Amino acid sequence: PRPPRDLDEPFARHCQDPRIAAQRPREKAALVMLARNSELDEARKTIQNIEAQFNQWFNYPVVFLNNEPWDPAFVRELNASVSGQAIFDTIPAKDWFFPPGVSPDKARESMAQQAASGVYKGGLESYHHMCRFYSGAFYTQPALAPYKWYWRLEPGVRYTCAVTYDPFAAMASHGKTYGYTVALWEEPATCPSLFREVDAYREANHLPATPHFNTLLETADRPWYQRPWPVRKLLGLLGRPHTSRAGERWNLCHYWSNFEIASLDFFRGAAYQSLFAHLDRRGGFYAERWGDAPVHSLAVHLLLPPAQLHHFSDFGYHHHPFWQCPGNAPGEGQLPGNEALDGGPGREQGAAGWTRESEGAIGCRCRCGGEDG
Ligand code: GDP
Ligand code: MN
Repeated sequence: PRPPRDLDEPFARHCQDPRIAAQRPREKAALVMLARNSELDEARKTIQNIEAQFNQWFNYPVVFLNNEPWDPAFVRELNASVSGQAIFDTIPAKDWFFPPGVSPDKARESMAQQAASGVYKGGLESYHHMCRFYSGAFYTQPALAPYKWYWRLEPGVRYTCAVTYDPFAAMASHGKTYGYTVALWEEPATCPSLFREVDAYREANHLPATPHFNTLLETADRPWYQRPWPVRKLLGLLGRPHTSRAGERWNLCHYWSNFEIASLDFFRGAAYQSLFAHLDRRGGFYAERWGDAPVHSLAVHLLLPPAQLHHFSDFGYHHHPFWQCPGNAPGEGQLPGNEALDGGPGREQGAAGWTRESEGAIGCRCRCGGEDG
């Protein structure tokens, strides 16, 4: 096969019959959905969609995780919707709670303050637990132990193009570790000290601030009088939000983690888990409302070379209120957020046989659009 033309070409450009790719062996991989019993309808819609667009040919297992025991109705309905094996597991209570060293009373006080000051979802205890879970213990769940790769699904997401190749196999053969669709800016009030803590961890562990890590720094936007290093140093010492001790400021860019195809081995490995343990000890999953998306993003930029990241620019993906539409689907644009980190390769994919057709047809037919696409 031809070598890729640049670091992050799409894995596939042209239409193919997915039954050809499906003849190759499967990876050790699973689709994974965390959900509540109350999300039965939306969860079923997601599964029906991913089956129509991908899994009807590849039959990967789907692991459903919940912090509460599953309703028999959920198990019955979702079992009937998955073409591969469906696995239903309950998360241990300790993985869905405050960590040792964080007082629940203090945490609840802080979450009430966050709610009062309008921090996005800052007052929802379950949301904080969810973000902490997805940042750390998700990767070490026994239900995921047999797998090397995961594809994260959520109730209510929608894939608008058929995926006619095996993205796990493509990640493996291209040496990739982390794949995303949409990149955006984080809500600033949710994580004022996150970047400071990540950068402190970096320094304490003698990890270099690589150019890749530094792509997450705000540089050009900074007014001229904040650019000289003594000024930056002062801003760092003053503990400005999103600013490291050295006075470098994070640009809030992150990958939207409701979609991820990534290596479980990387995230359950020592490098990532020790960064997570550091962040967990610092308490910001409760004292602030750190999201798993910026935690993952800062970690992959700190710990991985850029060649191990992949933008699935060929995937049509919708999660309210944002979506990605491949640049070659005629007449549709991408949200500006998608261009933030990589210049938006989706825009230049050219006409590779995509048409606006119904979902689930064989071939890489694509239907993209706004709210209901
Ligand atoms: P948003 O996308 O950031 O608005 O967050 P969501 O509400 O979609 O939550 C992200 C994921 O975590 C989804 O898969 C939800 O189903 C799941 N989730 C969120 N809160 C809970 C919870 O309290 N219990 C369970 N079991 N799942 C949750
Ligand atoms: Mn969501």
